Amino acid sequence: MISLEQLVRPNIWSLAPYSSARNEYAGREARVFLDANENPYNNPYNRYPDPLQLEVKAAISKVKGVPAENIFLGNGSDEAIDLPYRCFCRPGIDNVVAIEPTYGMYKVCADINDVEYRPVLLDDHFQITADRLLAACDEHTKIIWICSPNNPTGNSLVRSEIVSVVERFGGIVIVDEAYSDFSSQPSLRSELAKFPNLIVLNTMSKAWGCAAIRLGMAFASKEIIALFNKVKYPYNVNLLTQRQALEALSDPFQVDKWVRMLLVERSRMIEAFKLLPNCQMVYPTDANFFLAKMDDAQKTYDYLVDQGIIVRNRSRIQLCQNCLRVTVGTKNENNELIAALRQM
Ligand SMILES: *Cc1c(COP(=O)(O)O)cnc(C)c1O
Repeated sequence: MISLEQLVRPNIWSLAPYSSARNEYAGREARVFLDANENPYNNPYNRYPDPLQLEVKAAISKVKGVPAENIFLGNGSDEAIDLPYRCFCRPGIDNVVAIEPTYGMYKVCADINDVEYRPVLLDDHFQITADRLLAACDEHTKIIWICSPNNPTGNSLVRSEIVSVVERFGGIVIVDEAYSDFSSQPSLRSELAKFPNLIVLNTMSKAWGCAAIRLGMAFASKEIIALFNKVKYPYNVNLLTQRQALEALSDPFQVDKWVRMLLVERSRMIEAFKLLPNCQMVYPTDANFFLAKMDDAQKTYDYLVDQGIIVRNRSRIQLCQNCLRVTVGTKNENNELIAALRQM
């Protein structure tokens, strides 16, 4: 890896971050808080929340097996996707490389930050080699984006190729594992100690059933975490979110139960789709959704909308011609979808 100082934008490297009232007394005992211009009434909403979310991080550390000092928490993964651009990429100069097709936010954030986005097309099995990703890089490439299991294709990428990218690339490699709870593949979190240029993303929005509270996580070296903490909004994760996250994290067994149910439903749905006369194939998936190739995806999509059932039409995306992306729902929801398709 190139040194972090060489990778980071000079203005960010030298940035003196905002120091909040809560930061300055941190670590000492206190009873009376007259430091932050808060209203003393309307407890607990009157107080600023913990800017570093230490309680939530301690709980996540236990569940995910990563030390708290290697965890960043953001307002959804969205924040953890945007921050690397702001920390590493000089607008109009630097670029990033990403697999294609993949999650749309990597490109949106690149465009917002005026950073060139270099997509590298997956092969027919939705796989990529380290060689092909590295061939798209030049001396201004700061980040390589990998999503595994990938959205919208659903499959996991070959782990040895991901590791090879991390080993051979001098910049930052970000592996988005939003769907890893649904996969039997081991997470790359276990490799963090080996690779100072690796960032792994997780979210509470999928398996944890908490999309509404907006809590995303980045796992990385403590130097990268410190950089993110310096650039983020001081109170980026609000009190309600921190509380709700703690509650969810207190019962990881519930998540295991949901995942088991959803995986059973996923197999059942895939078998049902394969029997539909207008379904050509269902791609292998490691996520809580699957990609189905239809005879006419637009027609099927419109028909389903008329029935009040919404799936995602991915037809216009490269390699996904005539594909619908279907999220696995409850047994009843899934039955409604299958029943509607059988009557089409
Ligand atoms: C759904 C999803 C996320 C989650 O984003 P949040 O902002 O945490 O809700 C992240 N990455 C991928 C690839 C996703 O599909």
